[in-house]
Amino acid sequence: EKFTDFGLSPALLRAIKVQKYEDPSPVQIQTIPAVMSGQDVLAAAQTGTGKTAAYTLPILDRLTRGNEVRSNHVRALILTPTRELAAQVYDSVVNYSRFLPLRSTVVYGGVKINPQMIRLTRGVDILVATPGRLLDLYRQNAINFQQLEILILDEADRMLNLGFLSEVREIKALIPQKRQTLMFTATFSEDVRALAEEFVSQAVEITI
Ligand code: AMP
Repeated sequence: EKFTDFGLSPALLRAIKVQKYEDPSPVQIQTIPAVMSGQDVLAAAQTGTGKTAAYTLPILDRLTRGNEVRSNHVRALILTPTRELAAQVYDSVVNYSRFLPLRSTVVYGGVKINPQMIRLTRGVDILVATPGRLLDLYRQNAINFQQLEILILDEADRMLNLGFLSEVREIKALIPQKRQTLMFTATFSEDVRALAEEFVSQAVEITI
């Protein structure tokens, strides 16, 4: 399998070339087509397997198809349990979207909220966030979720272990029900299964 087999846009293939990735990893081979076809995904994948590119590449592709809506509304939301992961994922989003007309930003707690509010007001298509800070920003009217098309829960098991269940549920209540949802987890516990029941529907299940 090659990156050119997926039907990703030329701008994305160029970005992959810049990263010097030769071939897609196993999780990418399984995830990219499922996401591009619009299905929900529930994937068991550890850090280091290339999971970030596995969801970022196809969502960037989806966001650049169809009518371009230039609005102040977030179109894809990537939730992560920690700021370290949020920062890493954001770096990947920036790298893979370098040739695309999409705007992205990252928000997490422990730093001043005002610069984040200002960045959000300028408009973002892709937002990477930790749950608590995201809700703070929402309560301050800094975010509009009406046009949200895709929700990604990264490291869902860690999200639960760190006690973010109620925040994640609260976020779910604020976003459109009609959306594509992708859930990544390193492990499959009962709790992760239950979370998946709430968040994804008829998901393609991926294990590597
Ligand atoms: P992740 O599992 O998303 O944390 O990615 C782990 C590392 O693998 C990151 O440094 C990526 O840049 C790198 N990576 C992702 N996909 C590929 C690929 N297809 N070929 C080589 N390296 C990759």
